Amino acid sequence: MHIIKYPHPTLRHRSKPLRRIDGGLRKMVAEMLELMYANKGIGLAANQVDLPYRLIVVNPSGDPAVKDEEHVFINPEILRSKGSAEDREGCLSLPDIYAPVKRPEKIVLSAYDLSGREVTWEIDGLYARVVQHECDHLDGVLFIDRLTPSNLLAIKQALADLELEFSGNRQRGLIPDDVRIAARLTELETART
Ligand code: ZN
Repeated sequence: MHIIKYPHPTLRHRSKPLRRIDGGLRKMVAEMLELMYANKGIGLAANQVDLPYRLIVVNPSGDPAVKDEEHVFINPEILRSKGSAEDREGCLSLPDIYAPVKRPEKIVLSAYDLSGREVTWEIDGLYARVVQHECDHLDGVLFIDRLTPSNLLAIKQALADLELEFSGNRQRGLIPDDVRIAARLTELETART
């Protein structure tokens, strides 16, 4: 398992809900948490590790020792949102790129945890921002899609650099072509969604 970077096509894939929680899923979650902490992230969505599932892990503290802020959300849904707030965001799939993003300030989140229990939480602040950013990933949406035209312009060169790196890696055979990526995602979906 590794973190894929923009413009990998899996980041644009709309993920499907998971049907069951089992040992395989628990292993995936453990690996995702490990990767998130190793890369100093505060959230990670399954798309970012090339998996087509509605699954996110978050820990707004970024500290693996702060267990009460570490959460796994399976099939998360934002039921309601309120207010508006702007803050700088980044993403492990868009390394070293940061820009202000406007989002609702408070949300009501519904999801399943790893024990299969349904949770409904009202959250705000950084926690609500991280969850919204990660839920966007599950629909194939990146934070750069939510920028104002001038903020997008400011990071244009950095995006072009990532696109160049991606096509270079593809030419070297490190990344499969679109058809093979899509076939793999379909196979993984058939197994779990
Ligand atoms: Zn992200």
